[in-house]
Amino acid sequence: MFEALGNKLQDILDRVGRESKLTDTQVKAAMREIRMALLEADVNFTVAKDFVARVSEKAVGQDVLGSLNAGQTIVKMVHDELIETLGGQAAQPTLKTEGNVWFMVGLQGAGKTTSTGKLAAHYKAKGRRVLLVAADTQRPAARDQLEVLANQVGVPVLKVADGETPQQTRARLEAHLKEDFRDLVIVDTAGRLQIDAALMDQLADLQSQLQPSETLLVVDAMTGQEALNVAQTFDARVNLSGLIITKMDGDARGGAALSARSVTGKPIYFSGTSEKLSGLEPFYPDRVAGRILGMGDMLGLIERAQQADLKAMEVKKPGDFDLEDLLVQLRQIRKMGPLGDLLKLIPGMSRALPEGFNVDEAQIQRIDAMISSMTLKERRNPKIIDGKRRKRIAAGSGHTVQDINRILKMHEQMKDMMKMLGRMSGPGGKGPGKG
Ligand code: GDP
Ligand code: MG
Repeated sequence: MFEALGNKLQDILDRVGRESKLTDTQVKAAMREIRMALLEADVNFTVAKDFVARVSEKAVGQDVLGSLNAGQTIVKMVHDELIETLGGQAAQPTLKTEGNVWFMVGLQGAGKTTSTGKLAAHYKAKGRRVLLVAADTQRPAARDQLEVLANQVGVPVLKVADGETPQQTRARLEAHLKEDFRDLVIVDTAGRLQIDAALMDQLADLQSQLQPSETLLVVDAMTGQEALNVAQTFDARVNLSGLIITKMDGDARGGAALSARSVTGKPIYFSGTSEKLSGLEPFYPDRVAGRILGMGDMLGLIERAQQADLKAMEVKKPGDFDLEDLLVQLRQIRKMGPLGDLLKLIPGMSRALPEGFNVDEAQIQRIDAMISSMTLKERRNPKIIDGKRRKRIAAGSGHTVQDINRILKMHEQMKDMMKMLGRMSGPGGKGPGKG
């Protein structure tokens, strides 16, 4: 699903030129595509427009970075800015030693009740004494739904009664806490399908009684354009302190997260990743940035390549990738971490690799030994490695002829992979390049 957009951005990499500073034309051309990518990821159009304007201003005249070409530099800048806009690092809600009251708000179906259960499980596992409050009196079954979750987690639940006033709820909660000490109280509230003035009044009333230490807006990742309006309205009425983005396990690319975060400036604490109680993860801005751009972790790859200055990527011509290049590359890849992990960074590759695929250090060393036993002529032109040569190389490196055959076959496959990487950082790319 992400490949199509990844390819599109790769096309930009090819189209924008190879100068040492980014020009206005290059930036404009790239930004048109970036804006499309953002809109396709359901980022609100105002947010997308502002975002693109901000990055463009920074990008024009910027030096092309290290071993990257112009297109990669722009994509990296966009990616960095996205991470920044999404909040930089993963953030956590504030937790005092006691007296924590969290208020969960959001539209109906956003995942408030589910997330309340997930938070209870998460913080109970951290040793917190959690109490859930079922304050959604809107739908008859809503309080039971929370009770079921509370029982699963093994925490108590206080159910708000029909017709109870916010003052009464507060009094009951205080009485409950006197009997049974709890340091984290999470309040699940009612939602509506759309923003609704009466509901907002109700929420604001309960909030002013309970004085929560966190007011968390639960946003469905599939909300799309509307996410901006929802976040803005809730923030205006109940002053949000943070956000939770649910259903990140679905097809949604995360544009709602960017919209809600940009318009409120409030941190995104968690993402919901399944219907199960365990489906709660910290929100990682870098991952979501990649997802919004539709590039898998391609940017991580660009970045790591930049760090290790992986010159072997800049192969003379993608098809010319020979065994000497492979040797150079293997040695550089070893500096970058496990090869299996690296390959998985390439969009689509994780699906192409067999389950549990990994190339360990020892294996890389064996390949190194085998290639080292070849003459430079053989490495440059693997075609000449006939049966007799294979025997010699096998004996010389302490391996079998089958081992050598396998390496030669693997090299053929890698050649194909290099064609793909070559597109990212082709012969015209900035930097020394080989040959
Ligand atoms: P509420 O109306 O805001 O309380 O929403 P609920 O908690 O009742 O959730 C609505 C639906 O979304 C339910 O079917 C949940 O199982 C589902 N749901 C909630 N969070 C997630 C999530 O992170 N991933 C998935 N796949 N489903 C979720
Ligand atoms: Mg609910």
